[in-house]
Amino acid sequence: MMTQVLGCCGRYIQGYGEIKNLQKHIGWMGEKYLCVASKNRLRDLKETITEVMEGKEVIFYQFNGECSWDEIYSITEVGKENGIQAVIGVGGGKIADTVKVVADELGSIPQVIIPTIAATDAYTSAAALIYGPDGTVADVKNYPHSPDVVLADTEVLLKGPARLYVSGMGDALSTYVGGVVCQEHYFENHFGGVGTHTALAVAKLSYDMLLQYGRQAKIAAERHILTDAYNAVTEVNILMSGMGFENNGSASDHCFYFGTLALPDREEYVYHGEGVAFSTCCQLVMQGASSKQLDEVYRFCRDVGLPITFDDMHLPDLTDEEYDIMTKAVLKEQFIHHHPFPVTYEMIMGAYKTADAIGHLYHDGGSLL
Ligand SMILES: [Zn+2]
Repeated sequence: MMTQVLGCCGRYIQGYGEIKNLQKHIGWMGEKYLCVASKNRLRDLKETITEVMEGKEVIFYQFNGECSWDEIYSITEVGKENGIQAVIGVGGGKIADTVKVVADELGSIPQVIIPTIAATDAYTSAAALIYGPDGTVADVKNYPHSPDVVLADTEVLLKGPARLYVSGMGDALSTYVGGVVCQEHYFENHFGGVGTHTALAVAKLSYDMLLQYGRQAKIAAERHILTDAYNAVTEVNILMSGMGFENNGSASDHCFYFGTLALPDREEYVYHGEGVAFSTCCQLVMQGASSKQLDEVYRFCRDVGLPITFDDMHLPDLTDEEYDIMTKAVLKEQFIHHHPFPVTYEMIMGAYKTADAIGHLYHDGGSLL
């Protein structure tokens, strides 16, 4: 039997206005806290956090927007000077990643993440992407543990833009599609073991819940109101998506999106999860998924506004040369080989073009069934 590994954040808390109970959830970590947040989030939440952490010392640091070594060192310095015992990140994926590295630099001190957008699965994960001065990923860190506390306050999250929330659904959609391939064929997950039954059940549940509640949840997100569906999909986007991808592993669900990023002279107009949704369609086409599954995925993406064609990806009129660049880039991706068949240039090109054609069929009101 191969070694199975499951990892997750130490404690996940989700509730409307839950930030008011912050001290109850993290007060055990110590007396001195460093809170990292953007200018706008400091404006919105500094007062509340100071109030709810009464009796503790909280030092605030205004994040400069990039998870870079420069920024990490400068936050770490503030932490050292003040004898900080725990670090809190309030924001999106980049702040979450920054806090993971800073906590490690400060001697593996406890870390807390308070997400402000439900668009990324970075919050619960043990990995951090550090960006270089040119905006590309300079370092990938994989830590032996995930954040200690992730506190998802739906009152805070509801203020975020609906498009980012939907993008989070696109990222979550890929989790089961990629993960199930890894599990069935014993490919490694992101912790270097193979997946557990628990992890696969979480991924499957996230997929089913998206199809069931995603459309409703989008409507609530657009109106910034809390509904049961919004609450459910928030858990999918933040907890299940993060747990799911790390613990099951990835196949080509992200690779086709990364291929499009290799195009020169094309600006990036889509968010990560939007690109991943189209990439997931490409994977399903490449592996010969049933018309039934393609139909449910395409309908879902179309209905919530996730890309299903290159036009939706803001990549109209691709030339043969551009298809060639994207296809070669996909072939270089690590996880493209997490399939039980050898993936060739022709298969990738075929998947891109067919996935796009099926997307047009659905936009025109057609169906595979
Ligand atoms: Zn992703």
